[in-house]
Amino acid sequence: MSSKKRYGIVLDATKCIDCKACTLACKMENNVPKGPYAYRIWVAEKPYRGSYPIIKRGFLPSQCQQCSNPPCVHVCPTRASYQTEDGVVLIDHDKCILCKYCMTACPYDARYESENVHAIDKCTFCYHRLPEGREPACVETCPPKVRVFGDLNDPNSEVSKLLTEYEHTVLKPEKGTKPKLFYIV
Ligand code: SF4
Ligand code: SF4
Repeated sequence: MSSKKRYGIVLDATKCIDCKACTLACKMENNVPKGPYAYRIWVAEKPYRGSYPIIKRGFLPSQCQQCSNPPCVHVCPTRASYQTEDGVVLIDHDKCILCKYCMTACPYDARYESENVHAIDKCTFCYHRLPEGREPACVETCPPKVRVFGDLNDPNSEVSKLLTEYEHTVLKPEKGTKPKLFYIV
C-alpha cells in the first residue's frame, strides 16, 4: 500500500432525493455567499424517465471533480491554483488575480467568483477538516449517504472497495482530466 494518500469520492446518484442538505452544509462550512449563483456543489436534475403515470425523476449531485490532470492548475498564471501532495486541487485566494483563466479551462463549470473572499473559489473536499479526521461537510450531512469519501490508495478504504465492487464512471472522460469523483452506474 502506498503511504501517500489520494483522496476521492464515490457517489451513488440514484440515492439522491434532492433535499439539498449538502449544498447548504457546504455554504455554511465554507463561507460561500448566499444566493443561487455562488456554489461549491450543486444538484442537477436529470431528464424524466418513463411515461405517465409512472415517471421517474433523477438527480445528479456534483462539484469540483478534483482532477488528477487539472487544466485549471495548468493555466493559472500566478500558481494560485495548485494541487496538494494528496491530490486535492486548492486555490490560494491571496494569489488569485481574478483573471478567470481557470474558470474557462474547467470543463465542469466547478468554479465561481466569490464576493466573500474576492477570489475564485470551489470545492476543496473541506481540506481544513481532513487533519482532524473529519469528512467533507457534504458527505457528513447527506441523509441517504450519496457520497463516500476516502483514500483511493488504500485498498481497504470504503471508496476502494466500492470501486472494486461496482461498475462506475467519471464525468466527461473524453476531456482527459482524470477526475477523482466516481459515479456508480
Ligand atoms: Fe442529494 Fe444528499 Fe445533497 Fe440531499 S444531501 S441533495 S440527498 S446529495
Ligand atoms: Fe480544476 Fe475544474 Fe477539475 Fe476542479 S473540476 S480540478 S476546478 S478542472
